[in-house]
This record gives sequence, structure tokens and C-alpha cells, in this order.
Amino acid sequence: MSAWLSRKVSSLALNEIVGNDEQKQAMKDLQNEFEVTTDKLRTIVNQFIAEMKKGLEHNGATVAMIPSYVTGRPTGMETGTYLAIDLGGTNLRVCQVSLNGNGEVSIQQQKYRVPEPLKVGEMRALCDFISDCIDSFLTEMGTDPMEQVLQLGFTFSFPVNLTAINRGNLMQWTKGFACAGAIGKDPALMLQDSLRRKNLKVRVAAIVNDTVGTLMAHAYRDRSTFMGIIFGTGTNAAYYERMDRIPKWEGGQTKGDEMVINMEWGAFDDERRVLPVTVHDNKLDRESINPRFHIYEKLISGMYLGEIVRNVALSLIDRFLLFNGFSSAEFNKQWSFETAYMSTIEIDASSDLDETKRVLESILGITKTTLADRQMVKTICHLVGVRAARLSAAGVAAVMSHCDLLQKDCCTAAVDGSVVEFYPNFSETMTKALKELFGEDVDKKIKFAPSRDGSGLGAAVIAMQVSKGM
Ligand code: ADP
Ligand code: MG
Repeated sequence: MSAWLSRKVSSLALNEIVGNDEQKQAMKDLQNEFEVTTDKLRTIVNQFIAEMKKGLEHNGATVAMIPSYVTGRPTGMETGTYLAIDLGGTNLRVCQVSLNGNGEVSIQQQKYRVPEPLKVGEMRALCDFISDCIDSFLTEMGTDPMEQVLQLGFTFSFPVNLTAINRGNLMQWTKGFACAGAIGKDPALMLQDSLRRKNLKVRVAAIVNDTVGTLMAHAYRDRSTFMGIIFGTGTNAAYYERMDRIPKWEGGQTKGDEMVINMEWGAFDDERRVLPVTVHDNKLDRESINPRFHIYEKLISGMYLGEIVRNVALSLIDRFLLFNGFSSAEFNKQWSFETAYMSTIEIDASSDLDETKRVLESILGITKTTLADRQMVKTICHLVGVRAARLSAAGVAAVMSHCDLLQKDCCTAAVDGSVVEFYPNFSETMTKALKELFGEDVDKKIKFAPSRDGSGLGAAVIAMQVSKGM
């Protein structure tokens, strides 16, 4: 794993906690509650495999297993210049990607802030804004789209029901967008119409999900890449599936014999058959905007982990086991304990836990913490963080088993997102869980590799593949 993922956890054994017997017992109880044993992992993996099969068999399954229409694997030798745009959050990103062969690339990009009124105005106006941004970007780059048609990969991070690689219907808006005249319509077609109105010779070649982009961005550099996984605000994964193992596919003959599947794995076990959901997770779920949905994501991803820690801490405060029974106005606020604080606290190796003290007292306004308080908070962070990584490994293990990867040569899972990037030891903890499931040698079969530019490079690689007939 590269250097940016190797910051070490400084973990604490339960017997090092200087608190009283009741506090020590509370920590032991939490450890039991949050532990995912190897046996439990096996149960989860088996259920995961069963749910993947259901999703491949029919539409509307809990784990949706959406065919991406991306077939074939890049060789890394392809060359050419492609465009990519990413619309999803606050910014619109426009990229020009030069594939130089030998897995080498160069990328030029520009960010444009999407004006708030456009996010809730007419879809046509939003598309015109995107076209104008592409136009001014190309002018700035000195690229003349009049010479030849430029192929564009469109990372559109909203739920789209795909009907072709560059065709689909928007199912719903999320993340603060609510443009009129877009639901049930094809975002690629609407953008294409706008590009045409502005006489730009740009062709929307593909609608790209960020997991698929993450996979393809890495696949251009490393042919062993079989999976792309996001561990950011949310979590999701994509992998190569054999066409003959997608019974629900009705799209007719495809060029290759495999296709990338966007799993939408955040919804795994929404029926709650196997996931070890605690009262603290249930509290988070009830207070979320989508109760009962995306429970796997809620146990794993950056939006939620800090809030689970806060819930556990509050329960200890209410039992007079933490902070002498007192919270603070800030700490009482939902989402006030950011997942990034967990990373800070996990690597705090000072004997007095000074960084932990800073987070709790200076940032969160807890009046006075004892060493035992800080040790308990550190322990809680560790339990929640390790559980997240082990449950993530269950998803990876399910894909590995389903695809018989243990029988194959070494494979690479491309990973992206702040949690895997910054949470200390996240990928190492996943690997450890995989070793428990598959044996010590599993690290010769799978490695996790950072793949940072799914929505730029990945989308461009897909546009390239489309233009070369996949
Ligand atoms: P996005 O998912 O929107 O593409 P990111 O990959 O940056 O964005 O993920 C954002 C999430 O990562 C947030 O939920 C945030 O809480 C979490 N996060 C940010 N910094 C850290 C950190 N240092 N350690 C752990 N989680 C972090
Ligand atoms: Mg992201």
C-alpha cells in the first residue's frame, strides 16, 4: 500500500484503561457488542453472496447489481484525448485526459462552481451551463472541437436507470439538486441537445458511476484490476462479472464476455438478517434521512462512523461512566463528532492523549476530561473503525468467492475515498479479515490500490473504450 495509507493506529489494550471497574466492564461489553468474529464474518459473506446472486437474477433486489454497459478491459496501450465531466457535488469538474499508452496519462482540469439557482431551476438551463463550461474550458486549453468530435465521459453521481452506455433515465435527484424537467428523462440526451444547440462537437459517449470510473481509472494502469470500491461519504463497489452469470440481462449480444456491475452494495442486508446492528446504530438510523435503508453503508462510511461513536459516548455519559456524566452543547448536536476526529484519535500515541483532549475539549467543548475518559473515547473509535473495515472486507470477500478469485492470479481492488485514504490502517484491517477467511496467503491474491481519479481519468477511459467499440 502506498505511503498515504500507512499512518499507524496506536491502539490501547483494555487492561491499560485507568478507569474504575464499572468503566472497564463497560468497555468489555462494548468490545463484545462491536466485535465481528471470524465466524460472524463467514455468515455475512455467505449472505452477501446469496444477495449478489438475487441481484443478478432479477431487477428490484436489495443489492441492485446494475449492469454498467462497460465491457472489456483496457490494455493501457490505448492513446488519444478524451473529455470527462463530473457533476455531483458543489462543483462541476471538466477534464481533458490524454492517454499516452504504457498506462501513462496526463490530465488538465478546471472546476466551475454550480450556481445554486441552477441546481433547482430548469434542467435545460443546467445543461446549458455545463455546455458553456465545456466551451470555455476547451477555449482555454486551445482545443478546437471543430476539427473532430471529442468523446466525453459523463460522471453523473445520481441514480440513473441505464438502458445503454450513454442512455438512461434519472430516477431521482439527491444532494441538493432538484431541477425541473429531468426525472424520468435522459440526462445524457439533454446534455447532448444542449451541446448541439451551442455547436460544440462533443459527443456524450458514456454515463459513468463513480465506482465504475474508479475501477477503470486503475485498470488503464494495471490490468489485474477487477474491482473498484468507494469508501467516502458513502460506500459502493463495482466489479467485472461474466455475462453468462447475469441472468437478468436483456440487452442482447455484447462485444466481450464480461461486464462491469455497479453493485449498489450500501443496501446490503436492509432486511437485517446478518449484520451486527447495535442500539447505537439503530439510533443513528432512526435519526437519518433514510431510516431502514442503506444499513451496510451506515456501518461503514464516512458520513456515519463519527455519529456512531457519539451515540456510544452519549450512552456512557448517561450512565455516569464518561465525562463525569456531562456532555456539552456542541457534543449534543447530531453529526458534531466528525469521522475525521476518529482518525486523529486513533493515531494519538501521546501518553496523556493530548490530541484526543484537544478534540474533546477545544473542539467539542467538553469541560474537563480525565485520562480514563480519553482512553475510553479512543477505545470506542477503535471498535467502530475496526468493525467498519471488517464489514467492508466481507463485501470484498463475497466478490472474491463469487468470482472464484482465489483460483486466479493476483487481483487488484482499486479503492478511493477519504475513509480508506485517511482512516489509519483501514485497508490493513480489511486484509487481516480476509486472511482469517481465506488464509495467510490471501495477500498474494488480492491487493488494495488507491485509485484517485475515477470521475476524470476513469470516465475518460470509458469514453475511449466506447469510441473504440469496447
Ligand atoms: P465523497 O464521498 O463526497 O467523494 P470523500 O471521499 O472525501 O468525499 O469522503 C468524505 C467523507 O470522508 C466524509 O464523510 C468525512 O467524514 C470522511 N472523512 C474526511 N476526512 C477523514 C479522515 N481524516 N478520516 C476519516 N474520514 C474522513
Ligand atoms: Mg468521491
